[in-house]
Amino acid sequence: MNLHEYQGKEILNSFGVRIQRGIVAHNAKEAVAAAKQLTAETGTGWHVIKAQVHAGGRGKGGGVKLAKNLQEVEEIAGQIIGMNLITPQTSAEGKKVHQVLVAEDVYYPGENEPDEYYMSVLLNRATGRNMIMYSTEGGMDIEAVAEETPHLIFTEEIDPTVGLLPFQARRVAFNLGLSGTAFKEMSKFVMAVYTAYVQSDSSLFEINPVLKTSDDKILAVDAKVTLDENALYRHKDYVEMRDIREENPVEVEAKEVGLNYVDLEGNVGCMVNGAGLAMATMDLIKQAGGEPANFLDVGGTADAKRVEEAFRLILKDDGVKAILINIFGGIVRCDRVAQGVVDAYKNMGDAIKVPIIVRLQGTNADVAKELIDNSGLDVQSAVQFQEAADKVQAVLA
Ligand code: GDP
Ligand code: MN
Repeated sequence: MNLHEYQGKEILNSFGVRIQRGIVAHNAKEAVAAAKQLTAETGTGWHVIKAQVHAGGRGKGGGVKLAKNLQEVEEIAGQIIGMNLITPQTSAEGKKVHQVLVAEDVYYPGENEPDEYYMSVLLNRATGRNMIMYSTEGGMDIEAVAEETPHLIFTEEIDPTVGLLPFQARRVAFNLGLSGTAFKEMSKFVMAVYTAYVQSDSSLFEINPVLKTSDDKILAVDAKVTLDENALYRHKDYVEMRDIREENPVEVEAKEVGLNYVDLEGNVGCMVNGAGLAMATMDLIKQAGGEPANFLDVGGTADAKRVEEAFRLILKDDGVKAILINIFGGIVRCDRVAQGVVDAYKNMGDAIKVPIIVRLQGTNADVAKELIDNSGLDVQSAVQFQEAADKVQAVLA
């Protein structure tokens, strides 16, 4: 589950990570009140107005702006709230901004220039360990840094039995070229960030930039936090952080009816039982010259009702030109699934306008094939995996 910047910062702060402070506002008036309150609390004269959407690169899209007085706070907040923010990480239509974070300006001028670093914590799947990835080149595209100057990206792997050790945090500070107060501050910062990551059951922290202010404070200016949904049951207070306005509406609907659905760009809708078979089916579709329009695992009980729900979800996508149903009847009998497909098809009347290819393998597969072939509906059956793919290819041609 993805969070907004302000929510990610709240979590960081609750574990003692220093952050750029801010207050959320839903309209220009609230933004001015927030700015006044921040000035009272932090003494800041300037404020940064930051669009709160689930996408990075907001600065590039005009979603992060500096306001030098209250009038500018009002103007900028008014502009950003309600705008359709397009960034390199959103779709071409962009994302509607419902709220902004009014934050203290932490780039205040001093004797030293502020420095921006990059830091993330994530699971390294190759080693099965959490790692801290960090770089002196913060604030900008980390992808570009990885491409052009990979030697400027460092990693620190964490042994799960002992956790992050203080010498490792000091190594991070050292590699970032820090000394004196900033070195100590960074070591503390890294320890706190890692504790927050583990304790909050997150699967990703990305803090870009981490800032060294001109007076040697280290703080998180941005926060992208992804929580592990499977651990949400032990974080009741994080559950309400979900903002479904930011999520794909079809995926939200699928979750409500208990289907495991991920929206993709392609033209062949898939309905499969089991995640592994779903992945294999997607590969096969690609080999047949199509592109999967979705990942959909209907789970163990593929009865008429579930099949119908799955059809409805798949058909919400205009890009779907064919549907491939690939079900292995192990626990569930194939003839029951076939009956489910036929019933769902009939129930949906004219709603299904694309060809459907069904492959049922396993218990009672022969009965199932007969059911489909004799249904009189525009549904083609296949026995072999490859046969299903060939039929998909034929209908797309
Ligand atoms: P992103 O573009 O979505 O990654 O949003 P960030 O929160 O990283 O902000 C984008 C950029 O805004 C940062 O890289 C900074 O350059 C700038 N920025 C953020 N906070 C401040 C601030 O307090 N003062 C000034 N002057 N610039 C800031
Ligand atoms: Mn950022």
